[in-house]
Amino acid sequence: MNAHTADTLNEKYHDASALDIVQVAIRDLFPSRIAAVSSFGAESAVLLHLIAQTDRQTPVLFLDTLKHFDETLEHRDRLIKRLRLEDVRTIQPIASELIARDPDGMMWSRDADGCCDLRKTRPLAQAVMRFNALFTGRKRHHGHGRATLGYFEQDGARIKVNPLVQWRADEIYEYLDRHGLPRHPLTEKGYPSIGCAVCTSAVRPGEDVRAGRWRGTSKTECGIHESSEAG
Ligand code: SF4
Repeated sequence: MNAHTADTLNEKYHDASALDIVQVAIRDLFPSRIAAVSSFGAESAVLLHLIAQTDRQTPVLFLDTLKHFDETLEHRDRLIKRLRLEDVRTIQPIASELIARDPDGMMWSRDADGCCDLRKTRPLAQAVMRFNALFTGRKRHHGHGRATLGYFEQDGARIKVNPLVQWRADEIYEYLDRHGLPRHPLTEKGYPSIGCAVCTSAVRPGEDVRAGRWRGTSKTECGIHESSEAG
């Protein structure tokens, strides 16, 4: 059980920087009890860079839905090497459930919520059991209910930590350039938000950052963040 609540932490650290939040979370608030959930998507390198500056042994959980773009897997491997991350854990769907519920691998086209549950929510729930807190890369500028996010969010007994909530897209890309961090290869092809290949399309000028996610449906989140990144 956490001794901290999101409200008291937001009050205490409301004017801290993103790096301050990462450092205080890893070193003071949740030592050995915090992990990062990363999609290794378009903006993921910033949070991972902040974590690597603080403690490269911080666990990073990558949800491998088995439906990712090849470019995402290549970007993941490139970032692990560049940042010298020491504990990246690839979390895959539970094999028996995959065979039973999605034998043809097409569940995403019939029941996207069920597919996200099978490939993301359930495996992640198992992977995070021993952690009291999780970093996410979510930001207010992503919209879709994220506009009022704070640095800290209560998620049952667990705390979600969102160091980049205040960052705009231009600040993210300026940071990547300033620190010589690699960009996800799909960003220059019109993908500012990148999920599974079968559920992500390019975004047209003027569209919302996440407009290409589950395009043509009412779905906007994968379910792992609804009460509180990777998604
Ligand atoms: S984003 Fe699409 S393919 Fe990926 S888990 Fe969700 S429904 Fe399935």
